[in-house]
Amino acid sequence: MDQQQLLHISKQHMWLPFTQMSDYEKDPLIIESGEGVHLKDIEGNEYLDAYSSLWLNVHGHRKKEIDEAIKKQLDKISHSTLLGAANVPSILLAKKIIDLAPERLTRVFYSDSGATSVEISIKMAYQYWQNVGQPHKKKFVTLRNGYHGDTVGTMSVGSIDIYHRVYNSLLFDSIVVPYPNVYHHPSDDEKVVCEQSLTELGEIFKNHHDEIAGMTVESIMQGAGGMNVMPNGYLKGVEQLCRKYNILLIVDEVATGFGRTGKMFAVEHENVQPDMMTLAKGISGGYLPIAATLTSEEIYQAFYADFKEGKTFYHGHSYTGNQLGCAAALANLEIFEKENLVKQAEEKSEWLANQLQEIAKLEHVGDVRKLGLMCGIELVKNKETKEAFPWEERVGYQATLKMRELGMLTRPLGDVIVFMPPLSATYEELAEMLTILRKGIEQVTEDVGE
Ligand code: PLP
Repeated sequence: MDQQQLLHISKQHMWLPFTQMSDYEKDPLIIESGEGVHLKDIEGNEYLDAYSSLWLNVHGHRKKEIDEAIKKQLDKISHSTLLGAANVPSILLAKKIIDLAPERLTRVFYSDSGATSVEISIKMAYQYWQNVGQPHKKKFVTLRNGYHGDTVGTMSVGSIDIYHRVYNSLLFDSIVVPYPNVYHHPSDDEKVVCEQSLTELGEIFKNHHDEIAGMTVESIMQGAGGMNVMPNGYLKGVEQLCRKYNILLIVDEVATGFGRTGKMFAVEHENVQPDMMTLAKGISGGYLPIAATLTSEEIYQAFYADFKEGKTFYHGHSYTGNQLGCAAALANLEIFEKENLVKQAEEKSEWLANQLQEIAKLEHVGDVRKLGLMCGIELVKNKETKEAFPWEERVGYQATLKMRELGMLTRPLGDVIVFMPPLSATYEELAEMLTILRKGIEQVTEDVGE
């Protein structure tokens, strides 16, 4: 099929996620292939993939070891979900993940996307309290602008405004607490923000712990809600409060897991031991849809009983523990070991921090936030007052379109530009991406800034 036909059909029949299709009609993009950190469209244009294909591609595209692991698995079996049966790659992967995860976590429940891994954690937490005889503990606490996925359950334990406006009556209520957002806080002292936020959270726990099942929280860095980094010590403080008030701590590592923040899991920055941890995206190196919800042994044991007691966890998807996905994930984790990738990410993170200082000086860059190779650049109309650009100008979106013209793909979150390159990007490739990032921001803000 030629380019024109593909384009025509895509406009006639496709409906793309999180996309206003009128934008796609104006600026369509159809990817045909990828190699390393490069993507190529059907017209032969090449782009640097500066957001790891929605934050998941770890080693670049077409990583030989993962390609081969998938082919090898294809020769055995591609998929079987027989309820009550395990499969070989999923067992091997469970052992690998548990060896890497915080020691409190001993069990792996598979699924196929980040949203389902969180959805599962909510259902588990809810049922856990029933199983241990405290059914009144039903509510969830979440942070302002938290994002845990787009299913009905995960939208409910998240706090993205647009979801709550559009899908309001579909959702159940959660208790939303302010995010310890240093840049947008009246005090820009990280320590003050941390202490105040923990005090507020402590008050809520004190007054409502009898009805709270768990707290869902993105690990150290909040992604889709604006690329916000918690002050030092905040997540540790949340953990202590959860323990004090008997509330399950559900840490979402869907975006931050697998080296993204310069540690295998972001909880390691503060030695936090969650009761549950959700994983997806980088788990298969960005290859296949596989996800996991990890739990403590205590949670698992609350479900372990004679069948007649009704404590079974009632959940499972057709593609649970898919063999190809598990084989890809195993190969992915072997590459982490072989290439000492977490260490590499840590080193690149330091280098990147220095480079981003130059971007932070640009006239319309209000704030640069980063943890490891997870970065957000907030564009503002006025650097002094932090006044935002009018939303209808879509400055973030325009900047990413400009970057696309210059040969790099990334994504805006409002006026925050996401910069999340694959961990495998070389220093040279990172430098190339930063040049385009800078040019894109300069060119767009010159046009709209005055
Ligand atoms: N949790 C977090 C922290 C995320 O960033 C995302 C996706 O961006 C999700 C959950 C949902 O993951 P998925 O898109 O795989 O459903």
